[in-house]
Amino acid sequence: MASRVHLLGVDIDAVTMQQALEQIRGYLDGSESKHIMTPNNEMLVESTKNPRFKEVLQKSALNLPDSQGLLFAARWKGQRLPERVTGVDTVQALCQTLDERHPVFLLGAGEGVAEKAASVLQSRNPRLKIVGTFSGNPKPEYSQQIINGINAAQPHLLLVAFGAPAQDLWIAEHLPKMSSVRVAMGVGGTFDFVAGVKKRAPVFIRTIGFEWLWRFVQEPSRWRRMWRAVVVFPWLVLRSV
Ligand code: UDP
Repeated sequence: MASRVHLLGVDIDAVTMQQALEQIRGYLDGSESKHIMTPNNEMLVESTKNPRFKEVLQKSALNLPDSQGLLFAARWKGQRLPERVTGVDTVQALCQTLDERHPVFLLGAGEGVAEKAASVLQSRNPRLKIVGTFSGNPKPEYSQQIINGINAAQPHLLLVAFGAPAQDLWIAEHLPKMSSVRVAMGVGGTFDFVAGVKKRAPVFIRTIGFEWLWRFVQEPSRWRRMWRAVVVFPWLVLRSV
């Protein structure tokens, strides 16, 4: 197991994408159920105000460093995260390696988006077995219906796109009720990107650490999240040294 970097009270796994994929495939071959999270700056800021969310982050099996900001923060604290491991890249790379032994269910995102993402993933990865999609809703009144659907489909891998913190709080509460699920992962905007509903920043913008700015330009309504990511997060990290 790779080392972990401690940021704002949460341990982030110092893994490369390849190491993360090996770890997740190991979990899928195992018999326990594991929660995987993809923390970014905003999620760590949220965890400082939301004790339940912090607890979920502290208990998850794997915390993949989704944002460049986490790499900068680690370096500032004299530690090292080897590379950014985003939810969307991890899901796409993982799906390339899965076959019918590990069925997949896509939960969340807007109406029809998970279905579209599933058909894109399926066409790119003919060996992949997708056993269900559902847009769903993280509100408690919808939980039983969702759980019944997932239990009927019997996936090993459950990808949940309700946005953070809702998706990870939902997984933490309901994972024990879905006995077939070995890995549940909160994946944020992954289905939107895979389905082509939203466009990801060009690679060079991602490489220089400005994907957040690209998303802000595309979705100015995210300004509150951006403020947390680029102002509050660095401030909290500086103060925590
Ligand atoms: N979403 C949802 N139900 C909700 C709230 C959000 O299905 O009640 C979906 C939303 O449609 C989007 C995803 O959750 O597909 C969250 O994406 P966001 O861009 O917020 O995630 P990020 O990538 O920034 O973590």
